[in-house]
Amino acid sequence: MTNKPHKVIPLADIRYASRVPPIPAQLSAPTGLLSDTLGRPLRDLRISVTDRCNFRCSYCMPKEFFDKDYAYLPHNSLLSFEEIARLARIFVAHGVEKIRLTGGEPLLRKNIESLIEMLARLQTTAGKPLDITLTTNGSLLAKKAQSLKDAGLQRVTVSLDGLDDAIFRSMNDVDFPVADVLEGIDVASQVGLAPIKVNMVVKRGTNDAEIVPMARHFRHSGAVLRFIEYMDVGASNGWRMDEVMPSRQVIERLNAEFPVIAIDPNYLGETAGRWRYADGAGEIGVISSVTQAFCSDCNRARLSTEGKLFLCLFATNGHDFRALLRGDCSDEQIAAAVGQVWQGRGARYSELRAALPADSSPADGTLKRVEMSYIGG
Ligand code: SF4
Repeated sequence: MTNKPHKVIPLADIRYASRVPPIPAQLSAPTGLLSDTLGRPLRDLRISVTDRCNFRCSYCMPKEFFDKDYAYLPHNSLLSFEEIARLARIFVAHGVEKIRLTGGEPLLRKNIESLIEMLARLQTTAGKPLDITLTTNGSLLAKKAQSLKDAGLQRVTVSLDGLDDAIFRSMNDVDFPVADVLEGIDVASQVGLAPIKVNMVVKRGTNDAEIVPMARHFRHSGAVLRFIEYMDVGASNGWRMDEVMPSRQVIERLNAEFPVIAIDPNYLGETAGRWRYADGAGEIGVISSVTQAFCSDCNRARLSTEGKLFLCLFATNGHDFRALLRGDCSDEQIAAAVGQVWQGRGARYSELRAALPADSSPADGTLKRVEMSYIGG
């Protein structure tokens, strides 16, 4: 049933591979119409607020690598909530409409409600409230849901890779009961953090037997269950193509039990392919970064917990904006630097990977891909 990820000894700690973005000579005010070299706007900012987590999901933070000797970031190197809010304001001026708080496990960051309150005061360039959401493993959600809602959080995404405790444990490698995560989802729904999305990473041979039981559980619940293809993120999960279950096969398996119909995306740049149950029992999604790359309209940027900007989930280096924040740069200067960095973006890792033989990667062997636990999913 379970095959442990192969032990990977990292050559270089990717967290530190970044450069301080130069301040352009010409400071032009943000217009909200920024686009990169492939014409993609900047609409979605994912902010990691901690590199710590209380789970050890094998595809993200395998215990073999993130063990008791792992050196987490010292607290003073993390961006403060004021610094995060200042940067977020600048990104919103450039066109960001959605902010997703991630980690590690974001609910481990003390007083995260204060940060959410600060972000909830921001408005998009069109004068609308920001779409503020958060991705959590659900372990603390039952306790925190009400205070998150009161602070201004609108909705939540919960990672849950199975209903069977043994299978759940084989994916997250900690002794945490599924029932507590399900309780967190119920409480989040009761307090109005909806629509709730539930993300299941499917690893062939480990938890794919949970596809139909998960679907059965969340039908008629209002929650949107999304099946995520297992990805070669970071440099520590020992990824192999034969452990990927293509979304096409997930849909086939589901359709045999509960007929589903493909439906249109909600907006350009949505990561999930949407499907609905033919009998009206709700909606599901598939996120197919490996077999159906969606880089062509990827409008996402990722900020690490210590202020490094990454332009792709599979990036090998970042842009150190903390140095500008703590280097007495003005908002105008930082905004101009953000603009220049995004305009130079050409990332499309999944598209490049798709063109290569299985198990090979577009990134050259020297630079390691950044860990997902450091920049958020
Ligand atoms: S691989 Fe990179 S560019 Fe492509 S969709 Fe993912 S984050 Fe965006």
